[in-house]
Amino acid sequence: MNAAVIAVANQKGGVGKTTTVVNLAAALAELGKRVLIIDLDPQGNATMGSGIAKQALTLSGYDVLLGEATIEEARQRAKEGGYDVLPANRDLGGAELELVHELAREARLKNALQLVSEQYDYVLIDCPPSLNLLTLNGLVAAHSVLIPMVCEYYALEGLSDLVTTLRKVRSAINPKIEIMGLLRTMFDARNNLSQQVAEQLARHFGDKVFETVIPRNVRLAEAPSHGLPILSYDRTSRGAQAYLALAQELLARFELSTITPSV
Ligand code: ATP
Ligand code: MG
Repeated sequence: MNAAVIAVANQKGGVGKTTTVVNLAAALAELGKRVLIIDLDPQGNATMGSGIAKQALTLSGYDVLLGEATIEEARQRAKEGGYDVLPANRDLGGAELELVHELAREARLKNALQLVSEQYDYVLIDCPPSLNLLTLNGLVAAHSVLIPMVCEYYALEGLSDLVTTLRKVRSAINPKIEIMGLLRTMFDARNNLSQQVAEQLARHFGDKVFETVIPRNVRLAEAPSHGLPILSYDRTSRGAQAYLALAQELLARFELSTITPSV
């Protein structure tokens, strides 16, 4: 069986993409799944959050996109959490320019992933906060997209750009890609606006919205500075419980979708 490849994308910055990738990876691993994170962001936050020093990489996603290394050669094991990472640092920012004259430059990651796809159940791609060639590589490689959204007034801003990009990717190169779900992040139950936006998202997007809501939880913000997923840092926290629930919901959706193809 080949891995299910999920791009975690939203060109808005700071909506919880990286937090979701790292903690969902650890939660899926805890549930017995084999997981690989692809860090596609030159900020290298998913790399650092997995306890891997981004300054000290001998090989990274940059070398993979340029065709100078395989994922097998460049990946590393997360310090804790039981998953693998294709790490990134600022070098990755240069890949975009260097690939300008290369053929099939949007499909670099997809092609590289094919070689390791059987070794994993889930591949989670952490996209950068823009719709650039790196994100495009993520969307071309993915079967589905998970979109984190903060429960605040401007939550929907920019979503239409992402949907337009997805439509183009679908018609040009990856016809099967679908939106797996919108994930409501940084939810504050004491805040009326947060509640209203969360409800609006659910009403508007129906079953495309994950039932699991990720609360605003300071433990989630602290964990990356220790290079740990929340399950290793504080497994009793509300953040840890939420990401475990999300992993379970995601597994249930996947098992269902293998029986009833989604429309
Ligand atoms: P970027 O677009 O820069 O890549 P991002 O979408 O990956 O950002 P994160 O880095 O995951 O977003 O989160 C932004 C900030 O908010 C980080 O400091 C993170 O620790 C914090 N954060 C994320 N989720 C939560 C949460 N549920 N509760 C509290 N803090 C959170
Ligand atoms: Mg990020």
